[in-house]
Amino acid sequence: MINFNVPPYTGKEMEYIKKAVENQKICGDGEFTRKCNAWLEEKTGTIKCLLTTSCTHATELAALLTDIKEGDEVIMPAYTFVSTADAFVLRGAKVVFVDIRPDTMNIDENLIENAITDRTKAIVPVHYAGISCEMDKIMEIANKHHLFVIEDAAQGIMSTYKGKALGTIGDFGCFSFHETKNYSMGEGGALLIKNECDVEEAEIIREKGTNRSKFFRGQIDKYTWVNYGSSYLPSDMNAAYLYAQLEMADEINEARLSIWNQYREGLQELSDAGKIALPFVPEGCVHNAHMFYIKAKDLEERTRLIAFLKKNGILAVFHYIPLHTAPAGQKFGRFHGEDNYTTRESERLCRLPMYYGLQKDQVDYIIGKVREFYA
Ligand SMILES: *Cc1c(COP(=O)(O)O)cnc(C)c1O
Repeated sequence: MINFNVPPYTGKEMEYIKKAVENQKICGDGEFTRKCNAWLEEKTGTIKCLLTTSCTHATELAALLTDIKEGDEVIMPAYTFVSTADAFVLRGAKVVFVDIRPDTMNIDENLIENAITDRTKAIVPVHYAGISCEMDKIMEIANKHHLFVIEDAAQGIMSTYKGKALGTIGDFGCFSFHETKNYSMGEGGALLIKNECDVEEAEIIREKGTNRSKFFRGQIDKYTWVNYGSSYLPSDMNAAYLYAQLEMADEINEARLSIWNQYREGLQELSDAGKIALPFVPEGCVHNAHMFYIKAKDLEERTRLIAFLKKNGILAVFHYIPLHTAPAGQKFGRFHGEDNYTTRESERLCRLPMYYGLQKDQVDYIIGKVREFYA
């Protein structure tokens, strides 16, 4: 059986976890957390990166920092994971969904402005499959209407848009290190902060509303409760696991890209024949091979395709029931404009196995089976 995902493992993880234990500092913000933050800052060019317990929590932190409140509206695609919406719904905001582009499955940048009201506070672009949204246009709209931009870059680490790392373009960027992502710590994430003025408050909220981060840096004598907050810092043991992978990030990225390219070449013919659709990478976007998907004709064909692959020992999956069709989505959100593509395209999409360590001959086998299905 070829699994859909296998969590990344490079070999150094256990050694680093042991080191974290021997440091006698297994709580947050130890050696490995600092190393991961520094690595991410260096790699992305952000002024500040804070490791968090998940991408969901990084987004919650961003929602707190942007002071999203009851009555506010936040614009995002409905084709996304629930966390994107949850973080804002928790603060009492209403989610306004707009349609996606069928080519990238990202929010359609041309539909955003029309969804803005005097209650709109933020735009949340989701970089689906690690392929960037049209950020120039989104930033232009945000600047014109004085809105925050919080990038859901859960899938976007190592990807760029016109040379800029995803997660560093908006006011805040959120990464995920869940086991299904390119780099993992089991459960975990990171908040990337663009503006210096947000750094201190972010550190305080992440540390239960205290100024403990300043205390650890020796900037104050004792720490105290200065604001509301929560606990968004992961254990250093988890960070140790992640650091082993960040050290090998380029190698992992290249391995994934070569799988992605192999799929792309192997399935091009079916795409040329109009039988399936393949992912599209717009000019100016460099992606990280987070996922490889194909699009079947419709839901019925996709159901048969997934069953056929399963029968042949291949686990292919779909995801994201569009949020506006889910009970909570109806309660906490509304869809602005027409759903031309969100539902239709989500029903066609099928993700093929993709993970670090997936072998070339396995990919060939999968390509062969997809071709066989369409023969
Ligand atoms: C994985 C994912 C998340 C959630 O990440 P966690 O680290 O599990 O909280 C949020 N948004 C998108 C688009 C994701 O793919």
